[in-house]
Amino acid sequence: MTAQYQRELDVALSAVRQASVICRSVQAGIAPDALEKNDRSPVTVADYASQAVICRALGASFPDDPVIGEEDSSELRNADHSDFLSRVTSEVRSAGIDATDQDICSWIDVGSSKRYATRFWTLDPIDGTKGFLRGEQYAISLSLLIEGRIEVAALACPNLPPAHQEGIDADLCTARRGRSGQISVDPFLISETGVLFFAVRRHGSRAEPLDCPGESIAVAVSEASCSRDARLCESVESGHSSHQQSAQVAERLQITREPVRLDSQAKYGVVARGAADIYLRLPTRKDYNEKIWDHAGGVLVVEEAGGRVTDVSGRPLEFQHGFELSANRGVVVTNGVLHDEVIRALRETGV
Ligand code: AMP
Ligand code: MG
Repeated sequence: MTAQYQRELDVALSAVRQASVICRSVQAGIAPDALEKNDRSPVTVADYASQAVICRALGASFPDDPVIGEEDSSELRNADHSDFLSRVTSEVRSAGIDATDQDICSWIDVGSSKRYATRFWTLDPIDGTKGFLRGEQYAISLSLLIEGRIEVAALACPNLPPAHQEGIDADLCTARRGRSGQISVDPFLISETGVLFFAVRRHGSRAEPLDCPGESIAVAVSEASCSRDARLCESVESGHSSHQQSAQVAERLQITREPVRLDSQAKYGVVARGAADIYLRLPTRKDYNEKIWDHAGGVLVVEEAGGRVTDVSGRPLEFQHGFELSANRGVVVTNGVLHDEVIRALRETGV
């Protein structure tokens, strides 16, 4: 793909692939009644294990790079949680990595930085934890930022069908009303193949089946220019993005299709490959700042696929303020062509 940042890209891809193996194995073992019992322990185990193996890889190849990750080991080091730590260690060992409990905590803490640096990585070891627990979409997102610009991104979506699969575009928009009454992505779309999106700034966006390194194809956003026909996606969780306001925006744009709801940065992936045209993330609370690890990976994948990403007022996202996007409100992702029209509709709707 490119000589510049080739090593960073290779390390990032291999690390997120390794983390995906662990996440998949934990997700496959979730008891059917875990959701009813409100048992979040599987996702917590996978979250820590994922951060541990990715930070281990980054620490070995780039020992001077800070990593702003979502987790730290303080809870795990608490003596009351030693059984839990053993579960994390055992998951990492099952992936063929020799590790002690102490190693796990030290690796996790490689990713505990929260401060801006000229060069740093940001990591969401499992984005979309609710989707992970429901057996639906989640993502592992890792990116490298230099002087506040995202330069390299690796975004694994272990349950998203690879773009190579015929019929994905049509299928993705077959929305379905689930048990909760919400419209979500058809569960038949949960693919065991998974897809790994990646991008290096100025070198385009690519995607490959998660288990087939080296079989990547270029991805590109849609060319849709008529907002009425646009396919909109958003969070499954109405607490993370206002469904009510997005419905008002959709009405103003005269969009007739139901929104497709899916968890995690998989939404960036589907816009990047043209299966959706718009992703709206509309603030539900005044005091919430978006976290950089929830966006950086997806943003570069979409931008390099030809799309645009701003906040709700059309301002570029600013990644130089530490772990939060404190200078921005909400996020708007489009194929580029539709962007100004969507921002106008948001303004007219009073978002
Ligand atoms: P999604 O899968 O798109 O619903 O997004 C999941 C992410 O939403 C999590 O990783 C959280 O960091 C983030 N999140 C938590 N609370 C909020 C909130 N009030 N508004 C926006 N995002 C949130
Ligand atoms: Mg997240």
